[in-house]
Amino acid sequence: MKIHEYQAKEIIRKYGVAIPKGEVAFSIGEAVKAAEKIGGSRWVVKAQIHAGGRGKGGGVKLADSPEDVREKAGEILGMRLVTHQTGPEGRIVRRLLVEQGIAIAKEMYVGITLDRQRSQNVVMASTEGGVEIEKVAAETPEKILKEYIDPMLGFQTFQARRLCFGLGLAGEALKNGVKFLLALSRAYDASDASLAEINPLVLTEEGHVLALDAKMNFEDNALFRHPEYESLRDIEEEDSFEVEASASNLNYIKLDGNVGCMVNGAGLAMATMDIIKIAGGMPANFLDVGGGANAQTVEAGFKIILKDPNVKAILINIFGGIVRCDRVAEGVVEAAKNVEVQIPIVIRLAGTNAELAAEILQKSGLRFLVARDLQDAAEQVTQAIAEL
Ligand code: GDP
Ligand code: MN
Repeated sequence: MKIHEYQAKEIIRKYGVAIPKGEVAFSIGEAVKAAEKIGGSRWVVKAQIHAGGRGKGGGVKLADSPEDVREKAGEILGMRLVTHQTGPEGRIVRRLLVEQGIAIAKEMYVGITLDRQRSQNVVMASTEGGVEIEKVAAETPEKILKEYIDPMLGFQTFQARRLCFGLGLAGEALKNGVKFLLALSRAYDASDASLAEINPLVLTEEGHVLALDAKMNFEDNALFRHPEYESLRDIEEEDSFEVEASASNLNYIKLDGNVGCMVNGAGLAMATMDIIKIAGGMPANFLDVGGGANAQTVEAGFKIILKDPNVKAILINIFGGIVRCDRVAEGVVEAAKNVEVQIPIVIRLAGTNAELAAEILQKSGLRFLVARDLQDAAEQVTQAIAEL
């Protein structure tokens, strides 16, 4: 689960991470009030969307009076913000973060995430903050310092010090930097995060170390331990198909291709996506209807696939083990009743009640291409798209 910058800052602050003074605002009036409450003579008005690169896209602006905050808030609120992470369609800005303006001496980077290859959390730091860190990682990987966290011992003070030395911090700034990293690591652990990224991490003229930006993702499988995070969810920032699918208890993930996939079992769903790719096609989604799927869940899944305008053909691949093939067939037919299905559907059924399922589909009046096996199904569906 992703959250907004202002929410991430609120969480890390509780664990002792230093952040600038700031307030969330949902309207221009609230933004001005926030600026007055924060005080000072310089503010930053920041678009709150679940994507980075806002600065370059015009979603982060400096202001030097409450009147200026009003103006900048007016420009950003409601804008369609396009960044390298939003895709060309961009995101409508509905929330702002108003913060005290910070006099920056140095912009750095720090991030904590899970290194899946090493099965360890890793703390990364770089002097190349502010800019796109992906570019630094690709072009000058030696500029990213790493400390792996031993799961038994946790992140150690000497590791935090080593990173801060590497960042060129000394004296008071070094002390503040070490404190910052240890606090961030505590926040990452305690919140079951999968990412905590501070870019830029700044050193101020006074030697303070602050999180100027904060990005945090939570591990979905640990969310049950944090009912308090439920209210942080911003449905408007999430993919609408995924939101709809999760309401029906479906494991659905939207992808970039055009072959809609309806499969039972995560392993079979992965294998299906692989085989579609090998056949030259591109899956439009991952969908596992689950072992306990009934006609209603299948119907819900099929409807979601049909709603996706990118889907040009559908592959239904079901192994009837716990869920019987006839139930799946009933769900598909039910879902197709109310919508005019104009795209080719290739179906491969095997296992319990496969014959009964074939009969249900045949009688439905819908047109299906029946596949002999998985390979044949993948080839038929890519062929059907090629012929469009
Ligand atoms: P992102 O572009 O979505 O990653 O948004 P950031 O929060 O990182 O802001 C982008 C850039 O705006 C930062 O790299 C800073 O250079 C600048 N910026 C943000 N807040 C301040 C501030 O308080 N003072 C100054 N001088 N610059 C800021
Ligand atoms: Mn940033």
